[in-house]
Amino acid sequence: MVIVLLGPPGAGKGTQCKRVADKYKLVHLSSGDILRSNRKDGTELGKKAAEYMDSGKLVPDQLIIEMMAGAIESAKGNCVLDGFPRTVVQAKELDKALAAKNKKIDAIVNLAVDDSVIENRMTGRRSCPACGAVYHIETLKPKKDGICDKCGEKLVQRADDNPEVVRNRLKTYHEQTAPVAGYYADNGNKIIDIDSERSVDEVTKAVIEKLDTLSAV
Ligand code: ADP
Ligand code: AMP
Repeated sequence: MVIVLLGPPGAGKGTQCKRVADKYKLVHLSSGDILRSNRKDGTELGKKAAEYMDSGKLVPDQLIIEMMAGAIESAKGNCVLDGFPRTVVQAKELDKALAAKNKKIDAIVNLAVDDSVIENRMTGRRSCPACGAVYHIETLKPKKDGICDKCGEKLVQRADDNPEVVRNRLKTYHEQTAPVAGYYADNGNKIIDIDSERSVDEVTKAVIEKLDTLSAV
């Protein structure tokens, strides 16, 4: 089964994908996390991606498509996709890759958040470099300031979560990623729109309620 979560940066895709993956026993595939892990390991892909990520631009489609095709294959096609596809070209390639395996996307969830909420979400985000848990300095605080509840590691702020890069990432989203939802709608896919300006738990409840009504999950 393949579930896609769409939405602007900071909408809560990573937060909700972890919960959806746990609930339906799927592999959570975050293109951003895979890229960051490549950068940490110093791979060729990581080196090529760095300047795009640091300036808030998209990494070129071909690099991402290859990377995600490999990840989906490793997950045996049972995954929830977070941050991919982010362009119409990526969406078309994903459709082709799934069709070649007699698969298709089973559900597309679009997390809607107004731009005015996003800067606070992203600049307040703190992540655990060891286990990937994500917190927020106001809305999802760890029990002990700056320390991961799950593994005790010191939390970090992502370098691209500074106000200037956040503005670039939002611009990139509106220009290149927002049209992906239109592509899916034009091709007969139903999009589950979720108001993501509610609490994390309320958003999870709304997402799961909708997914539970689909026979595929
Ligand atoms: P994305 O993966 O879409 O970029 P994240 O899941 O990393 O977004 O969430 C961005 C930030 O906003 C994180 O700090 C997270 O803790 C916080 N957050 C996520 N969902 C909500 C919500 N519904 N209400 C308030 N804060 C949220
Ligand atoms: P994220 O963790 O989803 O916020 O992604 C962080 C950064 O990684 C983005 O700002 C892009 O530079 C890059 N990135 C992640 N996913 C993609 C994608 N599907 N296509 C192109 N670039 C991506």
